[in-house]
Amino acid sequence: MQTYLVGGAVRDSLLGYPVYDRDWVVVGATPEQMLQQGFRPVGKDFPVFIHPDSGEEYALARTERKSGKGYAGFCYFASPDVTLEEDLIRRDLTINAMAMDDEGNITDPYNGLRDLQQKVLRHISPAFSEDPLRVLRVARFQARYANLGFTIAPQTVRLMQQLAQGDELEHLTAERVWQEFQRALGEDSPEQFLVTLMQANALVKLFPELIPAVNDPHTLTAISQPADPRVRFAILLRSAFAKSPSEQRNQNIRTFCDEHRTPNAYRDLALQFCSHLDQLCNYPQLDAIQRLELIRNLDLLRRDEHLKLLFQGCSVICNETQSVEQQLPQLIESLRQINPKALMDQGFKGKALGEAIYRTQLAICQQQIDGVL
Ligand code: ATP
Ligand code: MG
Repeated sequence: MQTYLVGGAVRDSLLGYPVYDRDWVVVGATPEQMLQQGFRPVGKDFPVFIHPDSGEEYALARTERKSGKGYAGFCYFASPDVTLEEDLIRRDLTINAMAMDDEGNITDPYNGLRDLQQKVLRHISPAFSEDPLRVLRVARFQARYANLGFTIAPQTVRLMQQLAQGDELEHLTAERVWQEFQRALGEDSPEQFLVTLMQANALVKLFPELIPAVNDPHTLTAISQPADPRVRFAILLRSAFAKSPSEQRNQNIRTFCDEHRTPNAYRDLALQFCSHLDQLCNYPQLDAIQRLELIRNLDLLRRDEHLKLLFQGCSVICNETQSVEQQLPQLIESLRQINPKALMDQGFKGKALGEAIYRTQLAICQQQIDGVL
């Protein structure tokens, strides 16, 4: 049997990118031989094994055939006779279809190296159209490599458009779509993910709500700034639902996040960001009541871990954020020093205690405005 490094690890090491996960293909082996060597099977019917020490994936060389709709609709055929070239041809892009042996020799039957040098994302064969996930993968790779000057081959764009025209994209699970979107949001040019989907006529099927945001050049520039993926997501949704009144907008954000199985951390930041961005950007102009209201609405006295992300978003959207970034944490810290016990000792209790705390809080906010905090 012969083992090769394949896929992203070969591509990224040739590009000089860091390699996080390594996939291997094994030619000329049976499942029994793999088990004998201590590999653990991943699934019952799937020819993929986990290395007992490294935990990396080793797949038996296989061919595949389309047998139904969507990502799950494939039949695999693994056998010791399947060659490396046969295994590589079922992959999506030429740059993902190179293999490296343990001496560093590259097997490259579909000219991945040439496309890497020419900076082109190109499908390997018409079988590309058999898996709708590839539309999202190409868009994600474009988000990752656009800054290096990569483009998508026109014929590949056409195949993506054809895929999007049919009903294949609807067979992808929301989880799978979100997974690609989330990864794209963490790439260097996340806007390229959306622009590419738009170009493939896939945005209207996958994220129709985002069309207004993608049509707005300011939003595309904003999400391309270095920021946490959650911040970029919040900026996108703010732009997508900019025309809705605030109540409706929050409902739209919740619906979007439910439908796309978005993690709560993404949804909650988007809601906070959309509802409070204006106050955060105009912080120096807020009076004491408004400052306290902002802190209470964002629940910042109890948990302020979102604050850094909110500031990131502000610095992308507003011109001046230095004052809020300095003053808001300072005010939160001062408000936390209020000791209810001292007020209770003065005889305040129940509702009166709540009111006394509120008055003390307001006085501290006023001190900040007066510059005596
Ligand atoms: P990443 O850096 O995101 O991990 P990757 O190319 O390694 O990129 P993986 O999902 O780890 O992506 O897949 C490993 C390899 O398996 C790919 O390089 C590609 O050759 C093949 N592959 C993965 N998903 C598909 C797919 N949907 N269609 C065709 N080939 C695929
Ligand atoms: Mg990989």
